[in-house]
Amino acid sequence: MNKTHYDVLIVGAGLSGIGAAVHLLKKCPGKSYQILEMRDAMGGTWDLFRYPGIRSDSDMHTLGFNFKPWKEQKAIADGPAIRKYIEETADENGINPNIRYGHKVLSASWDSPSAKWTVTVETGGKKQKLTCSWLHMCAGYYRYDQGYTPEFEGRDDFKGEVIHPQHWPEDYDYTGKKVVVIGSGATAMTLVPAMTDKAEHVTMLQRSPTYVVSRPAEDKFANGLRKFLPGMMAYGITRWRNVLMQLFIYNQTRRRPQKIKERLLDMTREEIGDEMVQKHFTPEYNPWDQRLCLIPDGDLYTALNEGKASVVTEHIDRFTSDGIKLKSGEELEADLIVTATGLDLQFIGGTEITVDGRKQNVHDLLNYRGAMVSNIPNMTAVFGYTNASWTLRADLTSEYMCKVINRLDKENYVEARPVADGVEPAADFLDFSSGYVQRAVERFPQQGKEAPWVITQNYARDIFLMRHGKLEDGALIFRRQHETVDQVAGMVPAAAE
Ligand SMILES: Cc1cc2nc3c(=O)[nH]c(=O)nc-3n(C[C@H](O)[C@H](O)[C@H](O)COP(=O)(O)OP(=O)(O)OC[C@H]3O[C@@H](n4cnc5c(N)ncnc54)[C@H](O)[C@@H]3O)c2cc1C
Repeated sequence: MNKTHYDVLIVGAGLSGIGAAVHLLKKCPGKSYQILEMRDAMGGTWDLFRYPGIRSDSDMHTLGFNFKPWKEQKAIADGPAIRKYIEETADENGINPNIRYGHKVLSASWDSPSAKWTVTVETGGKKQKLTCSWLHMCAGYYRYDQGYTPEFEGRDDFKGEVIHPQHWPEDYDYTGKKVVVIGSGATAMTLVPAMTDKAEHVTMLQRSPTYVVSRPAEDKFANGLRKFLPGMMAYGITRWRNVLMQLFIYNQTRRRPQKIKERLLDMTREEIGDEMVQKHFTPEYNPWDQRLCLIPDGDLYTALNEGKASVVTEHIDRFTSDGIKLKSGEELEADLIVTATGLDLQFIGGTEITVDGRKQNVHDLLNYRGAMVSNIPNMTAVFGYTNASWTLRADLTSEYMCKVINRLDKENYVEARPVADGVEPAADFLDFSSGYVQRAVERFPQQGKEAPWVITQNYARDIFLMRHGKLEDGALIFRRQHETVDQVAGMVPAAAE
């Protein structure tokens, strides 16, 4: 632990950070690395969130790593099972001794002459500096210390409790309580059926509807295949089946949004009837303009049909002593209000980046291949797909990092930097119209108009671009120690792949 220089520093010990370490061990053996994790546990999202029913809303055959099969019966898995999978991965690959817990990365400063990052971390109330040749950001996409909660008038008047799902109190007892869950995203959809086990009644209060799709929690195809084929082969087949199915459905929503919209609404109608769908489950936007909500085994529909839960689509006027007054004048009684109002998004864990003494405003910079940022050398940042499982791209980004590091070593380069001279920003980093995304666009880089400055949101295409594609594309500039970026920018690097 006294060592202060590493070949690679990975920020974050969540799904992406642990996966990244495995890729590094396999593809760049011999590289020294550390994982800097600000919390005291690994697992990230799957350790932080402890609300009732916490689960994935995509299947674990695509949310799992490409190198470790998911073997549980349930494909839509609960938080503890995902945490266990991450911990097992770390154990099996001997990663634990390389994690520094309680190390929050505050800033990182690149120095071209030495070709090194100096990373400032806060640990035990003190600041400490570490250096590295490559920085791999696996810090997720939202603030851990706070979720997003809008200002609700009269909040202090409310006599009951208000809880944000990101800070769920351990062993919180909601037996017999009237619960109002504010929100219509994945968290609200999970909480509402889960809390009907003990609550007197659970109301989902949403400002506007969301598309909901029910799928079996257990994937019969995957579980059957595992009986006949070796684990990795069965996993690979299921994974590709799911990837292609998701891609097909996503593409259909782009090409024929009205048809898919009708199909999705029909499926919901079959479960809860037309009145419910018209009132509460018909969004104004097209499918995949915002994230679809996946529910396992129609659990939300069951809770609604049994009368244990209900949905109200309305705007909030204010909190009152006994609940929530709506703009319509109606009042919802509550003992507990859960503000499932979303995450507070951020890029690269809020790390402040400086390049050769100049502080970088990431919003002025461009995304490069969904993996790097223009003008920032020797740094990759994991950001998952918005229309498919996060880990599909986390794996690809970490593999891409290894490919670039190996190229640096092979050709005696010390730096790889995307240079976006003359490329104009053309789109936001995230292509969702949701409020929580729109509120945060300025904290993220932007996208250009064409490759390599766009994010494809297409795993199959990214495999060709990232895993098999050439590194040299005229935009990623490689530099040797004695050269300057200006000298090499615009030149196609000498070595061809
Ligand atoms: C409730 C919930 C459910 C989700 N369900 C799905 C799903 O079903 N499918 C899907 O694809 N995605 C889902 N997501 C997105 C999910 O976050 C990703 O799937 C995945 O867990 C991200 O892993 P990660 O390691 O990149 O980030 P995280 O899990 O967020 O982990 C990041 C880690 O970095 C650490 N960190 C952050 N900043 C710093 C810093 N400055 N210094 C040091 N350490 C830092 C954090 O403490 C954390 O441990 C869900 C998200 C939430 C919140």
